[in-house]
Amino acid sequence: MKSTPPATTAAKPNPSPSPSPSATMVKNGEISLSEIETWVFDLDNTLYSGVHGLFDQIDVRMQSYVADFLGLSPDEAKKVQKKYFREFGTTLRGMMVNHAMEAEPFLEYVHQIDVSIIPPDSALKGALGKLPGKKIIFTNASRDHANRVLARLGIEDHFGGIFDIKDGGFVPKPDPAKYRELADAFNFDPKNAIMVEDIARNLHPAKEMGMATLWVRTQADCAVCQEEPTGDFVDFETDDLTGWLAARLR
Ligand SMILES: [Mg+2]
Repeated sequence: MKSTPPATTAAKPNPSPSPSPSATMVKNGEISLSEIETWVFDLDNTLYSGVHGLFDQIDVRMQSYVADFLGLSPDEAKKVQKKYFREFGTTLRGMMVNHAMEAEPFLEYVHQIDVSIIPPDSALKGALGKLPGKKIIFTNASRDHANRVLARLGIEDHFGGIFDIKDGGFVPKPDPAKYRELADAFNFDPKNAIMVEDIARNLHPAKEMGMATLWVRTQADCAVCQEEPTGDFVDFETDDLTGWLAARLR
């Protein structure tokens, strides 16, 4: 059992208090978009709907790569893939840590998919065009994949940059260090930023840094994406990102 420190030690003021968990522009359960200087968007199943099953194509290719790499049956490979996705944030990270797999060939293979199954999104394009502030993509996928998806949606001109899995040294969200690296790389103040993402647990480090958070509920067939937040770190949630933005752009 830990001993209780003496009162004099406990009363010592903290010279560097941790940042407030509440973003300054969130007031009375609402947010003023004009106060947001930086928008941090996840890509997959956030900027397009999970109903199209685009990520399912990546999922299938990840399973086949894992099966080949480890000499497993498809069912065994699927179990390994899901386990690593849950424990490490990405299948890639689990394979790198546990099996010394190289990142780049895996990423190139799994992202060879048909993005034409998602439709261009003129409504989202219109909403993004009206949003004040800088917009950034923060993805556990590759830059090439992000560029293909953004081009297909027709929204590629609205983003000032992409922080992909390689930029993070192949260490994925929700590792808190990656969020700090993102803020440094794009030189923004988390207290004037909002993060938008379909996997609730990936919003936790953003909130800890002082960012506002918007959880986009997805219909994707993905257990981790469907998990409810396990704490008070989601400011807003929606199942319709464009509608959420449009309602606040009036
Ligand atoms: Mg996502």
